[in-house]
Amino acid sequence: MAKEDYYDVLGVPRGASDDEIKKAYRKLARQYHPDVNKDPGAEERFKQINEAYSVLSDPEKRAQYDQFGHAAFEDMGQGGGFGGFGFPGFDDLGDLFSEFFGGFGTRQSQRPQKGADLRYELTLEFEEAAFGVETEITIPRTEICDHCHGNQAEPGTPIVTCPECNGSGQVRFVQQTPFGQFATTRTCPRCHGEGKTFDTPCSQCYGSGTQRKMARVKVKVPAGINDGQSLRLGGKGEAGRRGGPPGDLFVVVRVKPHKVFRREGQDVVIDVPISFVQAALGDEIEVPTLDGDVKLRIPEGTQSGKVLRLRNKGIPYLRGSGRGDQLVNIRVVTPTKLTAKQKELLREFAKAGGDSPPDENKGFFERVKDALR
Ligand SMILES: [Zn+2]
Ligand SMILES: [Zn+2]
Repeated sequence: MAKEDYYDVLGVPRGASDDEIKKAYRKLARQYHPDVNKDPGAEERFKQINEAYSVLSDPEKRAQYDQFGHAAFEDMGQGGGFGGFGFPGFDDLGDLFSEFFGGFGTRQSQRPQKGADLRYELTLEFEEAAFGVETEITIPRTEICDHCHGNQAEPGTPIVTCPECNGSGQVRFVQQTPFGQFATTRTCPRCHGEGKTFDTPCSQCYGSGTQRKMARVKVKVPAGINDGQSLRLGGKGEAGRRGGPPGDLFVVVRVKPHKVFRREGQDVVIDVPISFVQAALGDEIEVPTLDGDVKLRIPEGTQSGKVLRLRNKGIPYLRGSGRGDQLVNIRVVTPTKLTAKQKELLREFAKAGGDSPPDENKGFFERVKDALR
């Protein structure tokens, strides 16, 4: 039977560049790799693709092939196959495959594997974030089966070393090609890389060794945490594999906006409306804080936009002692609905000189007037 042309096998023109050859090879290898392609004939095709690539990717061999075709390699002697040429690059091929397949198939490790990390979004009230809270969350999580303790076999039934791979979890396939031996290592199909087998799978986890559970986890949120910060709960993630440690749980905190407070760094900011009479004459008002209402003195002649500070009424520092302040943003509200009596009084007020700006601002108002002139 005539052997298919190597260029045809890879689907590239004769003048293809090394890069084009490599690209074509990667694409085909991915398509026909026996771990992913179960079609009959895929494995045979995969071998042909590898054979073609091993020649066309080697400048010396490619030159010989271009000159003599398949004949270049057919009379290379008995048994020794390619002899001096060897069959380079199987480690490279392994690397290529782990690149394609993310590690499954060729290079599955027998070592213990740490479980995956989990992420949970925890929404807190403003006050809970400020003062800290202890809460319990429920997360779907893979845990070691508590019936078989991860052994996968029904307790009391025998677990034996896998006869297929002698416990290594991997099997080596060796193929003879015209270029020598073609060897690949794959995860043992019998034990799926575990290195051991059993006849009676655990009745609770059906032999997986793990169970999906709704786990309740206590979370202690420290005072002062801010929106977007996360807590790492070591070992509270998914169960590990082959005795590996569990992953971690990351609790990402979301803080609900408050009706009146907002956070700026360690300070709590609040807008407080007062009347222009309170602003002009001064007053004592009640202001809500995280610790309840407190009395606040409004000094005589307070301007709108003035910020008054309540010390130590802010957010506690996350790690350390002390708290920020509460900043009270004074908003002087101009009345929009006045009674006839109030209007009368304000006209009196104006007549008494109350409609001109206070002396200390005179310079400013003069400058504005000058600018408009
Ligand atoms: Zn089990
Ligand atoms: Zn095995």
